[in-house]
Amino acid sequence: MPKNSPSNLNPRSPLVLDTRDLPRRPGAMRTVKRVAPAPADLGVELIGVPEGADLDLDLRLESVSEGVLVSGTISGPVRGECGRCLREINDSVVVNVQELYAYQDSTTDSTTDEDEVGRMQGDLIDLEPALRDAVVLTLPTNPLCREDCPGLCPECGVHWDDLPVDHSHQQIDPRWAGLSQLNRTEE
Ligand SMILES: [Zn+2]
Ligand SMILES: [Zn+2]
Repeated sequence: MPKNSPSNLNPRSPLVLDTRDLPRRPGAMRTVKRVAPAPADLGVELIGVPEGADLDLDLRLESVSEGVLVSGTISGPVRGECGRCLREINDSVVVNVQELYAYQDSTTDSTTDEDEVGRMQGDLIDLEPALRDAVVLTLPTNPLCREDCPGLCPECGVHWDDLPVDHSHQQIDPRWAGLSQLNRTEE
C-alpha cells in the first residue's frame, strides 16, 4: 500500500475508531465503550474468541503531540480445547491494549517503521491488528481444562478422571501367551 494513500477503512466498522471529535491538541481525551463482534480467527490454534462473539471495548483515546494513544482493555469469551484431554474449555479473556497511532504526515510517520508505531488513516484507527497481537500474546499456546488435568490413558483414550485408580492395560507376558496358544491346540 503506498504511503498516505486515501483511507480504505470503513468508519462504521466496529473495530475502527473514528477520532474526528477528538481535538488534535495534546491532552484531549475521549473514551470509547462499545461492543463489537469478534473477527474470524481471533486466537491461537487450540483456543480463541469465537467469530461474532461480543467483545467489550473499554478504551481511552488521548491526543499526543503526533498522534493518538489508545489504551484500555478488550474482553470477550474464549472457547477451546484442553491440550491434554481435548475437553472443551469455556473461559473469558481480558487483554490490555496500549498503542500509539501516528498522524499521517507527522514526523513520527516519516521517521518510524509501521510495525513500531501504528498509523492513522486520516481520522481513523484500525484497532484490529493491535487486538490480534494482544489476544495472541495473552492466550496460552497449550490451554488446559484445569491446571492439574491428568490427560487421557494412552492405551484406551479414556480420561484418567473417569477410570478407576488401578486402571491398567496389562500386557500378557509373551511366554504365557505361548502357553495359552498351546492350550488351545490341545482342546
Ligand atoms: Zn484436560
Ligand atoms: Zn486405559
